[in-house]
Amino acid sequence: MSREDLTKFILPEEKIPKFWYNVQADMPTPLAPGLHPGTKQPLGPADLAPLFAMGLIEQEVSTERYIEIPKEVRELYKKWRPSPLFRARGLEKALDTPCRIYYKYEGVSPVGSHKLNSALPQAFYNKIEGIKRLTTETGAGQWGTALSLACKLFDLECMIYMVRVSYNQKPYRRVAMEVYGGKCVPSPSNLTECGRAELAKNPDTPGTLAMAISEAVEDAVKREDTHYSLGSVLNHVCLHQTVIGQEVKLQMEMANDYPDVVIGCCGGGSNFAGIALPFIPDKMAGKKVRLLAVEPAACPTLTKGVFAYDFGDVAGFTPLLKMYTLGHDFTPAGIHAGGLRYHGDSPLVSQLYHDGLFEATAVMQNGVFEAAMLFAQSEGIVPAPESSHAIRAAIDEALKGKEEGVSRAIVFNLSGHGHLDLNAYDNYLTGHTEDVELSDAQIKASLKNLPIV
Ligand SMILES: *Cc1c(COP(=O)(O)O)cnc(C)c1O
Repeated sequence: MSREDLTKFILPEEKIPKFWYNVQADMPTPLAPGLHPGTKQPLGPADLAPLFAMGLIEQEVSTERYIEIPKEVRELYKKWRPSPLFRARGLEKALDTPCRIYYKYEGVSPVGSHKLNSALPQAFYNKIEGIKRLTTETGAGQWGTALSLACKLFDLECMIYMVRVSYNQKPYRRVAMEVYGGKCVPSPSNLTECGRAELAKNPDTPGTLAMAISEAVEDAVKREDTHYSLGSVLNHVCLHQTVIGQEVKLQMEMANDYPDVVIGCCGGGSNFAGIALPFIPDKMAGKKVRLLAVEPAACPTLTKGVFAYDFGDVAGFTPLLKMYTLGHDFTPAGIHAGGLRYHGDSPLVSQLYHDGLFEATAVMQNGVFEAAMLFAQSEGIVPAPESSHAIRAAIDEALKGKEEGVSRAIVFNLSGHGHLDLNAYDNYLTGHTEDVELSDAQIKASLKNLPIV
């Protein structure tokens, strides 16, 4: 059998990357600094120390190209890494496309998504610095689940504020977090001052990630033994996720192929960064690889937002980050891809998009589920609604190739499985998923409260 006939590309354990790739060493425009939310002056490490472990703060600002993965973390990565790369032969056949479609499957992690790639090192660095408890927010529940497990493995307590709409839509996620020993409450909650204020104003709010972040940060700053942990957006999170793209490059070599386009869904940007960033040096050296981020039309941060300093949360507790944003008090519609309902985007992804190294597109919910169904029926894996945004774009690229009579190599990240999202599929199958697209007037309104810096 020739390599061209293979369907899956499996790397041996010793090929788990030994380093994370830090794109900050290679960016044409360096990142604009984070600003203190009060003084609006550039942040120093001391400003972040109440919230994050020093090991993570150092990674946040590092410009070293390669950062060594601690051996304790790499040992735990062995539970599921290297993750498989599949050639989507069933999907190619269903589409009758001349294109070669590949997907990297991060759903094989114990928690079912890419999130554990960063949850483990975050728990590790906090543990070795003597922290006893981590707080966090979660949208769809994937991040909370990953952090619950990571905290348990490093013997830390875990407190999770879960966006209310997802808490109600996905009850089994809460149970999964509790199985791993985490504590999970719907946000806004009455456990924090900012949560109580929001509930008083807006008792029926579906909640937002930005609100849940405010609660988790407030909780963390109030306690000496507690730090805060974020599952996306920040530089160190994108850094940890680069194990994905580094493995993909080796696996594409095994396949004797090289991508024309690399695709990831984009919420806060970490799984897209994870698969795409390791291709940046190739692209800067003149390779013609396209790197495409896919977001929901209901929360079109890159495609319709502005590149400006904004808060990461509703209450204005977090540093100001320069990123594509729809405004920190933007409340996206309650679409099923809860993990993509965030007003902002990773500063790294934003800067590289601004500089033309990344592309972005926005897709509607029903087209996403249609793609997810075709994928499940041709490849056998039920994808997470978030990941299905990448599938939609991959299918569109493959259909374009067919129309043009061109065979291209399309690689996408299947960031997680959808076994705990069957309620969302049920809604789709019974005709209850709406296509929501933001109007320009709504966007203008939600941008009016951008902070002035
Ligand atoms: C959280 C999540 C996302 C979105 O977050 P990013 O930081 O943009 O990757 C995408 N897919 C899955 C399965 C998720 O759990």
